[in-house]
Amino acid sequence: MNSTTNIATTGLTKSFGGVRAVDHATVEFQDGKINAVIGPNGSGKTTFFNCVTGMIRPDSGTVSYRGRDVTGKAPHRIAAAGIGRSFQLCRIFPRMTVLENVLAAARPRGVAALLGSARGTAEIERARGWLRRVGIDHLEGVEARDLSYGQQKLLELAGVLMAEPETIMLDEPAGGVNPALIDRIATLVRELNAEGRTFIVVEHNMELVMSLSDHVVVFDRGRPIAEGPPDTVRADPAVLEAYLGV
Ligand code: ADP
Repeated sequence: MNSTTNIATTGLTKSFGGVRAVDHATVEFQDGKINAVIGPNGSGKTTFFNCVTGMIRPDSGTVSYRGRDVTGKAPHRIAAAGIGRSFQLCRIFPRMTVLENVLAAARPRGVAALLGSARGTAEIERARGWLRRVGIDHLEGVEARDLSYGQQKLLELAGVLMAEPETIMLDEPAGGVNPALIDRIATLVRELNAEGRTFIVVEHNMELVMSLSDHVVVFDRGRPIAEGPPDTVRADPAVLEAYLGV
């Protein structure tokens, strides 16, 4: 570990029955970078995210965040430590409005109590600020189910940002999103990174990965098989083999 290490894992392992979804993964991400995690379907990327964010307890190995051991800690403790995340299948409340969703992301059990209180007013302003930032503030009164899928992803991101995370893990932010909104998501990630936030992004859109990330880690069968700057990784024979079977 050095002074700029963000999330680091050593020997991280998680099996489901006979399937070793993550297999002795030792990975280090640096503070202040946009990191991408890529790999074929089923290579363990989501399970890796779930182990890091406390959704799943690893069978063995360690997870640290800025030098602090967070292995097996509950999701709310990991979030409180400064790591926010989005999900592959966007997690929002479809029948709540856009504004209520962002408030609910920060206070899952207390939206009703929040509305009408002084603290609530400040929280609502903060929620509106993030909605403006992601570009959907004009939709604050619309039910989330009436947004396009890309807008729902932006809404989820606004909810993640309500917790003011220093590190943000995004699981397929561009999946199922139209090209115009992919551009907006990419711009947002770059801006939020320029403000000091570290990103770790699972993404299948290679064009986006190559243009967005500083550092790429490639998973295959639960293990990191290559890592480095996008251009280096793209030319790595082990990566071509994992993807194309050549
Ligand atoms: P990726 O995100 O790279 O597509 P996953 O982490 O979703 O990969 O899956 C890795 C492997 O673990 C796959 O073989 C998958 O079928 C298996 N797996 C993931 N989650 C579960 C689960 N909850 N129960 C059983 N098998 C799982």
